[in-house]
Amino acid sequence: MAEIERRKTPTVRIGKVRVGWEVPVVVQSMTNTDTADVSGTIEQVAALALAGSEIVRVTVNNEDAAAAVPPIVEGLEKRGIHVPIVGDFHYNGHILLKQFPAAARALAKYRINPGNVSIGRKDDDNFRTMVECAVENQKPVRIGVNWGSLDQALLTRMMDANSKLAEPQPAREVMLEAMVASALNSAAAAERYGLRRDQIILSAKVSGVRDLIDVYTRLASRCDYALHLGLTEAGMGSKGLIASTAGLAPLLLAGIGDTIRVSLTPKPGGDRTEEVQAAQQILQSLSIRSFMPQVTSCPGCGRTTSTYFQELAEQIQSYLRVQMPEWRKRYAGVEELKLAVMGCVVNGPGESKHANLGISLPGTFEEPKAPVYIDGKLYTTLRGDGIVAEFKEILNRYVESHYGERTKSEELVGAQ
Ligand code: SF4
Repeated sequence: MAEIERRKTPTVRIGKVRVGWEVPVVVQSMTNTDTADVSGTIEQVAALALAGSEIVRVTVNNEDAAAAVPPIVEGLEKRGIHVPIVGDFHYNGHILLKQFPAAARALAKYRINPGNVSIGRKDDDNFRTMVECAVENQKPVRIGVNWGSLDQALLTRMMDANSKLAEPQPAREVMLEAMVASALNSAAAAERYGLRRDQIILSAKVSGVRDLIDVYTRLASRCDYALHLGLTEAGMGSKGLIASTAGLAPLLLAGIGDTIRVSLTPKPGGDRTEEVQAAQQILQSLSIRSFMPQVTSCPGCGRTTSTYFQELAEQIQSYLRVQMPEWRKRYAGVEELKLAVMGCVVNGPGESKHANLGISLPGTFEEPKAPVYIDGKLYTTLRGDGIVAEFKEILNRYVESHYGERTKSEELVGAQ
């Protein structure tokens, strides 16, 4: 498989996490709790971090939210969760960062939306105040342009200039160029006010997939700042997942993007960590990073009359998800493990042989037995009601024998 050539950027430090060309693409997420609800926000950040979010953003939209930031960070530290917390500011960030210096210190990064601070207007005092605060506290910033809140003064100027051209560009073209200009002008201003290039991350989020690819391709070709990718307002369920994947994949494969977020709309009361799993799955499907063992399962067809193999695939997937926080600590490299759960003998044994561990369940009219393959060789054949429990047991033994040893030998090498 051809290596992806990442676009070279400075490396930005966000707390203990590094973002940029030299390090793997970082997964981030955002809470949807009221930030002023300290315990609720701590719970959700903890869940996101446990699911694998390496940076978590919280909205800092008013005085109560700003006052809640230090106890949130402190509470997380007490629980041993050291994930960097980023403050998302709009409209009043310049006031809150000044009024709540403890919050300014506790946050690991500030997100500034140039469309709703003062950039592009008569003066840029508010933007400047936020950047000066970042310089004073030595915090990086993300200059996050969003097409829904694009700097209207800049857009109007560019639209006016376009209308005077002999052959005016389509409005979409001007909008994308305005987003790039907003990000780059703001980054240049942030540097003038004292931030270094390795303290600046840019993003330019839109909700259309083709627009996303276009705007980031332009941005990437015109600067070397680290970039945060995400399709904004991706939507719910499969629409959000597919649109995000369709937008992020071409960019990531082109080496563009140093950190990603999948902005899914959860169902009411839904699991916020789904967006972390989605971001990880995009990176793992593209062979960019590995986060957890992958289960290949066939779609099923007329050869399977029961849902047994689907249930087994689901149970194995959930089992892996539950085990991974512990396995990650004990078994180095276990995230590379490949499993196959197949519905019948047509493709079952073949696919099983390509996995580290594969099981092929009996299809309709097939003998009720389930051959299990380990690293391409038939290991055993399971029968009867205990197939799921026995397969999990084989899985546990495989993980212990293959990755447990590796962990121990690496520890021994490290101890020399
Ligand atoms: S492996 Fe068997 S059950 Fe699964 S899709 Fe193929 S033919 Fe159908």
